[in-house]
Amino acid sequence: MKEKWLLLGLYLAALSGLRAQAASDSAQACATGNLNYVFAEHQAFLPATLSEPIYIELYNVAKNKLWAPPLQDTRLKTSGFGMRWGTFHHGIDLGLRTGAPVFAVFDGLVKLATYESGYGNYIILRHDNGLETLYAHLSRHRVRAGQTVKAGQLIGLGGSTGFSTGPHLHFEVRYRGYTLHPALIFDFKSSHQMRSDKFFIKPHHFRHYGNTTPARGYLYHEAGPGETISYIAQKYQVSPQEIARLNRLQQEQLQAGQILRIR
Ligand SMILES: [Zn+2]
Repeated sequence: MKEKWLLLGLYLAALSGLRAQAASDSAQACATGNLNYVFAEHQAFLPATLSEPIYIELYNVAKNKLWAPPLQDTRLKTSGFGMRWGTFHHGIDLGLRTGAPVFAVFDGLVKLATYESGYGNYIILRHDNGLETLYAHLSRHRVRAGQTVKAGQLIGLGGSTGFSTGPHLHFEVRYRGYTLHPALIFDFKSSHQMRSDKFFIKPHHFRHYGNTTPARGYLYHEAGPGETISYIAQKYQVSPQEIARLNRLQQEQLQAGQILRIR
């Protein structure tokens, strides 16, 4: 067993040169807004095959399903969703002061609270209504993966980590791994901000992906009870060493609910 991890250590050392390369690729990707993540359960969904609108209940006060703006002041939009610098920007950028509180927009579960060279410190929330929201360039996380949050709960502090030219919140709305224009749901300039209590996702909302499947670079898996790195590696047909490397793991044992990057 010891030898196995020694070999892994040598393997990691050999890869460190490659990693520097990967990091710069990643920063590049964020600059172009193409950086993607996807959870394993999303793989089968292709917007192009959507034939009927998907109903999403955004809030329902009677059922105590609430919403909140991600920042106390959301009026300073510094960059919009869409083409930018010749490529696609998958979120909107909202100006803030470093340290400004960032809030969960709906109730949900923290799927990821981590660091990556493009997004910097970022958080992905999975909401009960089926949407996911992503908050990037944070100076600090205030939640951990696996934790549940309520709308309006403090999840982090704003900043300029990762590929960022100044303090701002990069905010994304996603459905099953595919980005949606946040302005379909939020109007951050108005006093109320939510356009409606309900939202219908339609095929044309994904037209920025064109007719092709988007480059979906990152794949994540949520470990089930008793699952090991070897088991997950076999499931996804990748090497255990690769999973250990991507997640900086030193041991075979995992905790149920732990989020692992597969590729
Ligand atoms: Zn951005």
